[in-house]
Amino acid sequence: MSETQLEQFRQEVRGWLGDNIPQGWRAAMTNAEQPAFVELQQAWFKKLVEQGYATPHWPEGWHGGGRSLAEQKVIFEEVARADAPRLILYFVALYHAACTLFECGSQAQKDKYLPGILNGEIWCQGFSEPNAGSDLASLKTRAERRGDKYIINGQKTWSTMAQYADRCLLLARTDGSGPPQAGLTYLLLDMKAKGVSVRPIDQITGDDEFAEIFFDDVEVSVEDRVGEEGNGWAVAQATLASERGLTLVELTQRMRGGLSMLVETLKSQGRLDDPHMRQQLGQVIPQVNAACAVADRYLQKRISDQEQVGDASIVKLYYAQVLRELVRLGVQSEGLAGQYHGGFMRGATQETGNWALDFMNSYNWSIAGGSNEVQRNIIAERMLGMPREPKQWQLS
Ligand SMILES: Cc1cc2nc3c(=O)[nH]c(=O)nc-3n(C[C@H](O)[C@H](O)[C@H](O)COP(=O)(O)OP(=O)(O)OC[C@H]3O[C@@H](n4cnc5c(N)ncnc54)[C@H](O)[C@@H]3O)c2cc1C
Repeated sequence: MSETQLEQFRQEVRGWLGDNIPQGWRAAMTNAEQPAFVELQQAWFKKLVEQGYATPHWPEGWHGGGRSLAEQKVIFEEVARADAPRLILYFVALYHAACTLFECGSQAQKDKYLPGILNGEIWCQGFSEPNAGSDLASLKTRAERRGDKYIINGQKTWSTMAQYADRCLLLARTDGSGPPQAGLTYLLLDMKAKGVSVRPIDQITGDDEFAEIFFDDVEVSVEDRVGEEGNGWAVAQATLASERGLTLVELTQRMRGGLSMLVETLKSQGRLDDPHMRQQLGQVIPQVNAACAVADRYLQKRISDQEQVGDASIVKLYYAQVLRELVRLGVQSEGLAGQYHGGFMRGATQETGNWALDFMNSYNWSIAGGSNEVQRNIIAERMLGMPREPKQWQLS
């Protein structure tokens, strides 16, 4: 697509978003009950799917799919610019589940599950456990083969939106005898099956965006195994890679919206001339711009097939740091009032303008999808070729 065509596409997306974004969604989601949150997400998902903007990253031949990376970037940038709701309820389905199925699933699994995703089925990711996060390979949830079924017993935690989910991407242990990675198997589990129970985790913010999942003799058909038995670690890499890059383009762009809110707050307080504030703002604004540029450069590398291991870690690490700086300044800008949050906004991004809450939420990004320390290890060891971390320093 030429530059002119891309610009035309941008105007098209911008126009459509302008006409279709749910009006007043931020106010409606503040202190919203769960049903209202689900309703808004469902309605927004349906519109985006119909327009083809929810699945631009899917391959050609699937509804909305086959868009180039440059076009996908336009959609993400415009969604951020327009301050549309984030599809937090459908994120795992659209990215983690779909991309895993496209890369590793059988044709029968694609035919069975992908239409369901387009029809609004909600998925969650069941990888982390109470004693297996950074060291994911040490997970203990068991999948025992009995005939043409696996019997699942164990527990997952921090599973985003699991309390609403229809299906789960499950990484479980089928063999405990060899190296930890070699004994893992990847399964697609029905969250409504007998023996599954879900306990939402109350967060300090008042929200409960993730949950614990317990499995008590849950049956999964062998047909719902992705890849071979014992090959789950390789399949899990496809899941983990699925959200790299484009999500961060959206998130970094969304920080610009946060910056505007901050400037508005300062303006309304008559504090834009405060030398201390100006100095701090002068530090954060270039950082936000730099984060957008780093995300953009990363995407250019992907478009030109030059992505190196560690590139995505740099973007995520820097985004998590800059976001923290931005929301910290937001808290400061409000003085004592900034210590209090009046109510949380379900499914919002990290910059709601409710700074105390945004500050707490910003910690999500230094942990989710691999903590800052783990990203630094990837950059140091696998990108820069520095000596590997001695085994005895690693957490067990
Ligand atoms: C918002 C959010 C959403 C999430 N959603 C999901 C989900 O949907 N599904 C899912 O399966 N999981 C999810 N997670 C879990 C997430 O993947 C884990 O929290 C993360 O991998 C860290 O694991 P942990 O919490 O067990 O911490 P640990 O691994 O116990 O780490 C504790 C601390 O030790 C540090 N540390 C660990 N190893 C090293 C090392 N080698 N060197 C230096 N420091 C180290 C870590 O950086 C961290 O600061 C989510 C987490 C968050 C915050």
